[in-house]
Amino acid sequence: MSLPPGSTIGIVGGGQLGRMLCLAAHRMGYRTHVYAPDPAPPASGPASLYVCADYANRDALAAFAAECDVITYEFENLPVAALEAMGDKLHPGTRSLAIAQDRAAEKRFIEEHGGTVANWRPVSEPGDLEGLGEEIGFPLVLKSRRLGYDGKGQAWVREESQLPDAWEAIGREPAVAEAAVDFTAEFSILVARRADDALAVWNAPRNIHDGGILRRSEVPAGEGVDEHVERAVEIACALAGALGHVGVMAVEFFATAEGPIVNEIAPRVHNSGHWTIEGSQTSQFEQHLRCIAGLPLGDPALVAPRVTMDNLIGSDVERWEELLAEPGAHLHVYGKKEARPGRKMGHVTRLG
Ligand code: AMP
Repeated sequence: MSLPPGSTIGIVGGGQLGRMLCLAAHRMGYRTHVYAPDPAPPASGPASLYVCADYANRDALAAFAAECDVITYEFENLPVAALEAMGDKLHPGTRSLAIAQDRAAEKRFIEEHGGTVANWRPVSEPGDLEGLGEEIGFPLVLKSRRLGYDGKGQAWVREESQLPDAWEAIGREPAVAEAAVDFTAEFSILVARRADDALAVWNAPRNIHDGGILRRSEVPAGEGVDEHVERAVEIACALAGALGHVGVMAVEFFATAEGPIVNEIAPRVHNSGHWTIEGSQTSQFEQHLRCIAGLPLGDPALVAPRVTMDNLIGSDVERWEELLAEPGAHLHVYGKKEARPGRKMGHVTRLG
């Protein structure tokens, strides 16, 4: 069933992804309702309605759900049990969320569905640190199973003697230990899936990270990535199907001599897809809404031979005037009050 204009789309999470979902929704004639625990998050500006409440507050979630026709999320560190109260209105469902928010469950799921991940082991207690050097080799990276993003909750280990400090650094949390992947490039596949299994996939962006944070996405990705894309698209579509995912999903990959290795799944619109707003016929935000509203999928084709997206991180956003003066630069500023180091404050997209 298609959701008619004038309906209300609920968004759990109030960050820049929610903000850009609201902007796309309003253009399509929908009202938006945002739910987040902060007093004035980026998405509350454009939202038609906004409620400030804790993610675990079931009564507040139920009241929010009653005011929405369909609900989505823009953030994955959410309590699955509380969101289950939203039942059929929630797209994607809680299965995508439950798998993606636990690095161990995610890796098992990827391996079960034909994807390859870096050699890894679960680490639940200090005893599990023994033998990691022989099983995985150094360097390796310890990543907390939950609540990690943009390189947070991660510690690199170069030799055996650093293991206890790394375990301490990630807060003695249940974790995974992962081999260092010898990659030639990083890229992602953004796939949109409707409930009837109709799929749309954008050109794969090459992603350049620094300090665990995405700095830049470039399309076309070019040599070193292009030869891995066909296999990576197969994997991403298989994962979306197996999750019964409805909406946009990003799968991040390492390009290696052994083929594409999956780093992680984001069960939502993704930073490496921001270029689609100006760079493709249908943006990831509009496509996500089309999926959850049961509308026909839009064309994901490129509108220019080359598109680049640069994140404005921390004080980079102070260049806003210079970027506005640059012909052909499309500036997005997220409306966050404080430009802390490492914080994503906006992005700029250039075509051609
Ligand atoms: P993540 O938060 O897991 O996406 O990691 C952030 C970034 O850290 C990735 O995009 C890579 O640049 C780097 N990274 C994470 N895991 C590994 C790994 N196993 N081997 C090499 N680089 C990694």
